Amino acid sequence: MTDFPLEETRVEKPDKSFFVPKLCNACDHSPCVQVCPVGATFETPDGAVLVDPEYCIGCRYCIQACPYGTRFLNPITGVADKCTLCYHRIHNGQQPACVENCPTQARLFGDLKDHDGPLNQFLREHKIQVLKPHLNTYPKVFYSGIDKEVR
Ligand code: SF4
Ligand code: SF4
Repeated sequence: MTDFPLEETRVEKPDKSFFVPKLCNACDHSPCVQVCPVGATFETPDGAVLVDPEYCIGCRYCIQACPYGTRFLNPITGVADKCTLCYHRIHNGQQPACVENCPTQARLFGDLKDHDGPLNQFLREHKIQVLKPHLNTYPKVFYSGIDKEVR
């Protein structure tokens, strides 16, 4: 039993629904790197974007600047945090954890400079989009077959 009267509500069914996992897009022109006042956010020579927790002062500028909403202030460390593309794993010859564990193998990770590799082969053979292309962030995370409503 509830003390509150239950009102009958009619909920319109949406025409369609979708789920778009968002991670750091490892932007080539990354707004987060541009706004960091102390150089704590930086791009690695191989194209990842990382945060050096020793330098981060927790000002949150990068969290505001990221157009993909992928950054947060880590409540334990007090510094900016985000997906690192599992940098520690990929430099150990492993795949990112999300790629390795996805039960449907929906994710593919690879070296964009390897023109004959499986990643570039996939990009050539599929219709590919990036999120918010009009912002010219040049993401290195690509989506196959997402609706234009979520770009
Ligand atoms: S997705 Fe956000 S956090 Fe990642 S590189 Fe781009 S602006 Fe930076
Ligand atoms: S929160 Fe840290 S990484 Fe982000 S802009 Fe500020 S100092 Fe740079």
